[in-house]
Amino acid sequence: MHSKTSNKQLTDLAASFGTPLYVYNANKITAQYQQLLTAFEPANTRFFFACKALTNINILKHVRTLGCNIDCSSINEALLAIRAGFEPKNILYTSNGIAFDEIETAVELGININIDSLSNLKKFGEKYGHSYPVGLRIRPNIMAGGNLKISTGHEKSKFGIPLEQLDELLAIIQQYNIYIAGLHIHTGSEIKDVDVFMKVADIFFDLVPHFPEIKFLDLGGGFKVPYKEHEIGTDIALLGTKVKEAVEKLTHTYHKNFQVWFEPGKFLVSECGSFITQVNVLKNNAAATFAGINSGFNHLIRPMFYEAYHRIRNISNPDGPVKEYAVTGNICETDTFAWNRPLNEVREGDLLVFDNAGAYGFEMGSNYNSRFLPAQVMLKDGEAFLIRKRDVFDDLLRNQIELV
Ligand SMILES: *Cc1c(COP(=O)(O)O)cnc(C)c1O
Repeated sequence: MHSKTSNKQLTDLAASFGTPLYVYNANKITAQYQQLLTAFEPANTRFFFACKALTNINILKHVRTLGCNIDCSSINEALLAIRAGFEPKNILYTSNGIAFDEIETAVELGININIDSLSNLKKFGEKYGHSYPVGLRIRPNIMAGGNLKISTGHEKSKFGIPLEQLDELLAIIQQYNIYIAGLHIHTGSEIKDVDVFMKVADIFFDLVPHFPEIKFLDLGGGFKVPYKEHEIGTDIALLGTKVKEAVEKLTHTYHKNFQVWFEPGKFLVSECGSFITQVNVLKNNAAATFAGINSGFNHLIRPMFYEAYHRIRNISNPDGPVKEYAVTGNICETDTFAWNRPLNEVREGDLLVFDNAGAYGFEMGSNYNSRFLPAQVMLKDGEAFLIRKRDVFDDLLRNQIELV
């Protein structure tokens, strides 16, 4: 219900709030979460929204009202989660490369923590001994994910404690009698292949006997969602079935119950988002016709940073003849959103909408070229709420100290 944002809604929102504009349909987030609840055993599965994908406080509150937990990548995200009303026991901090004092703060907050280095684990053991349960982020040496930049489990990845250092890891745990409550492996983003998750489950299967107090096995996030036309995402129903089998095998072998944790980011919020831009200039050229829009990688960097593909639609001229365009921004850098892209004929002033703009869109934005960050709007049951104002000129000077 209402989980797809119509072109009419987008056109009206552009008129009301101006462009460029991020629009998030909360009902789509609800629908995605429901899909997870249907596919997995609610009794032994917990989902933590990887909120680095989209941290607007109203989105966090919406996710909380669904009953979903939250996964944080920094202590500030954990503080935002608390501000959004999440209880500490429903917050997970999966740290990487952080200073130990952030872990101390996390302990003070009483949230769940996954530790990702032997160095921090040692400091943790020295300070807390057996008094505070923690998870361990393991690096399994699995190559998975959409491309190298979003792969985190391979042997050159900085993430996690390398599996081959198991002896050293166990020695530290023993020395300080650390309470290891869970294991975590996140192999990357845009993982379509269910077998990747099952490989991780196999690794857990072998590791479990080393950690007698373990309660949860955290398979991370990274479910793929369709970005291109006709693309298919991770088969969530199949994953649910396979995970159930894996858990049964674990329970049968080790005679105890395990919780399975997941940390979906994109899966929950990618498709809910639309990014509305307007065409400033058309430029004909031997190589391409450039459609220059009023945005750039300061607002949506995924295409330039990861070669990510976003569907783009001309909602002002949906029946116009299809032609090919290079869609570029207005930043003094090469900021090509798409090359040779078939679009309904583009005219100056037309609205071009980027689909799948909910995850890692606004969140990775900046004020580069001293341009304003876009406004954000949340749609809920058809009603529109402004959830972040567009920047104004003073925002560019905020925190600058102007010497006289
Ligand atoms: C980024 C991240 C996620 C979410 O990844 P998605 O591809 O957005 O699902 C989950 N867990 C950890 C530890 C992450 O860093």
